Amino acid sequence: MSDTPSRTELSAIGEFGLIERLASRIELQLPSSMKGIGDDAAVIDPQGLHQVVTTDMLVEGVHFDLSYMPLKHLGYKAVVVNLSDVYAMNAEPRQVVVALAISNRFPVEAVDELYDGMLLACKHYGVDLVGGDTCSSTSGLVISITAIGAAKPGDIVYRDGAREHDLLVVSGDLGGAFMGLQVLEREKLVFKETGAQPDLEGHDYILERQLKPEARKDIIALLREMEVKPTSMIDISDGLASETIHLCRRSNTGVKLFDEKLPIDPATYQVARDFNLDPSVCALSGGEDYELLFTVAQADYDKIKGNPNLTVIGHMTHPSEGMHLVDKQGGVHPLTAQGWDAFLKKG
Ligand code: ADP
Ligand code: MG
Repeated sequence: MSDTPSRTELSAIGEFGLIERLASRIELQLPSSMKGIGDDAAVIDPQGLHQVVTTDMLVEGVHFDLSYMPLKHLGYKAVVVNLSDVYAMNAEPRQVVVALAISNRFPVEAVDELYDGMLLACKHYGVDLVGGDTCSSTSGLVISITAIGAAKPGDIVYRDGAREHDLLVVSGDLGGAFMGLQVLEREKLVFKETGAQPDLEGHDYILERQLKPEARKDIIALLREMEVKPTSMIDISDGLASETIHLCRRSNTGVKLFDEKLPIDPATYQVARDFNLDPSVCALSGGEDYELLFTVAQADYDKIKGNPNLTVIGHMTHPSEGMHLVDKQGGVHPLTAQGWDAFLKKG
């Protein structure tokens, strides 16, 4: 905010002024968005499809820290994390509504920056911002976004469809967003203690994973193109281990997950080592990767094998076999939401 050229107090334009200002920036793109900002409620045409609805709330001091999160990035990320949930249903996001609680320490220009990011994400993913709510906050900033998506009834993928012998597949790579956060936290601490400017050199990839995550719209399109319908799916917000456990619990299966298969970018790997952390534990427990985790029938293996965007990391088992992680030496460990018990104990 320091390089914002001017500062207009929110009180100078008021709530109505702010809403008008937002509305004037928005042009609806989709035929399903029948009415956007400006009435008591938005109107959406489901066009004969099933609608999926999801909400995510981001609270300052809990989910984000404005000392290293630029408002534009925050806006972008706030939309992306919601769209990710819609893609994880194998649905197409179409509309978002945005509720903001904002303190008067933010000028109008800060709200503009936040919406710059939200509207950029909307444009990138082909989604309309059709409404919201604005109120004042006596403490931090709160952003609650609801995303609405659509899918043909038969296309929707739930968490509970995994079956014994299905392959467990993850998109992209893991642990990067967590390592990006570690670097940002470290530099914040250094700045606090010494006043030294943050040294973020060479950390572009993991910082982008933390500050500007993307939802895997491309993976949903890829699977459709390959004619692979996952049997179950979830997006990775809390960490691979905990999301895998969700799939197993909902589907009533066990799982065998292989450490040596975990996709970890070399940049993530190196920074984890520099921080004296086990890269596998970061991949298992880091969270905020917003990759898709899904299961496919064995019969689909030939369609997905060799695709650089997809990695088979394990398979589902009979529930009586439990949920396990196999280490590089072949040792078997119970899978826990924290990642890998044995490693944490060792640490
Ligand atoms: P009400 O008091 O009836 O809830 P509001 O004055 O809050 O109405 O909202 C008026 C219109 O502006 C509605 O269409 C609402 O969806 C939209 N709106 C309000 N706040 C926001 C916001 N932060 N972002 C986008 N649209 C908003
Ligand atoms: Mg309202």
